[in-house]
Amino acid sequence: MTVGAGAAEHGRVTAQIPALAQVPASCFGIAVATVEGQIVHAGDSTTEFSIQSLSKLFALTALLQQDPSAWSHVGWHPTNAHFNSVAELERSGGRPANPFVNAGALVVTDRLLERTGDAVAATVDLIRRESGGRRVSVDEDVAVSEMIADHRNSALAHVLAEHGRLSCGIERLLAQYCHQCAITADVQTVARAALFLADRRRLPSGLAPATVRRINAVLLTSGMYGAAGDIAYRVGLPAKSGIGGGVLAVMPGRGTVCVWSPPLDADGNSAGGVAAIERFAELTEWSVF
Ligand code: GLU
Repeated sequence: MTVGAGAAEHGRVTAQIPALAQVPASCFGIAVATVEGQIVHAGDSTTEFSIQSLSKLFALTALLQQDPSAWSHVGWHPTNAHFNSVAELERSGGRPANPFVNAGALVVTDRLLERTGDAVAATVDLIRRESGGRRVSVDEDVAVSEMIADHRNSALAHVLAEHGRLSCGIERLLAQYCHQCAITADVQTVARAALFLADRRRLPSGLAPATVRRINAVLLTSGMYGAAGDIAYRVGLPAKSGIGGGVLAVMPGRGTVCVWSPPLDADGNSAGGVAAIERFAELTEWSVF
């Protein structure tokens, strides 16, 4: 925890969503869930935080449960472009690079919305079910705060629509996407909910083992914004972060670790979260390599 708190001093709490700028920089929670069913946690581990882009992982899983071939619509390639780059989407002819950049995540939400009628509920249900019924909510203030100034996601949605990649109306999609990002849960819930990525005996219905392997592969190459290579080198685990300060890492066959520490580094990853997971991986020798 000292390692994480020290690193957090060099980061900044996101200002991208005004409602999140109020979150105290000093919050710090960590939880480890193992495939044996143990859960170990410390710090602010019962405080719900805004999971933001961590929701992209769960929305993708909910979609793949229903449509294992959804990869062909959202892509699986790493990119060095910013996670909400409109220029990149234009360059690729409206084809998203992967499900963890915003363009891909919007396509995931669109397809999940089309299939279920409520992508937010489908994502919340998955997190709740996989975490064993723990508390999962949606923070309306955060969702509205993002929707008011969501010009970039709106631009991405318009480019996607122009290329015929969306089935639902743009307004409805953006409202769903912002509410999905505004899901709140504590680190214990997120660590437990993602345990299926580490434990083949916990496959959510409809999800093939090969799909889980692919999700982990794309987390490793694309889950940490432009820093995926750096995280693979320093930590060696598939991981996903969000601008709310959450980071989740997966050790296949062993377990998951989730850290919440709001200040972000220059790449947009939780500075304290990455430092804590790096130290944890070193101490436990968790690495996929
Ligand atoms: N709601 C944020 C957005 O779409 C999430 C960004 C993130 O956590 O990476 O821009």
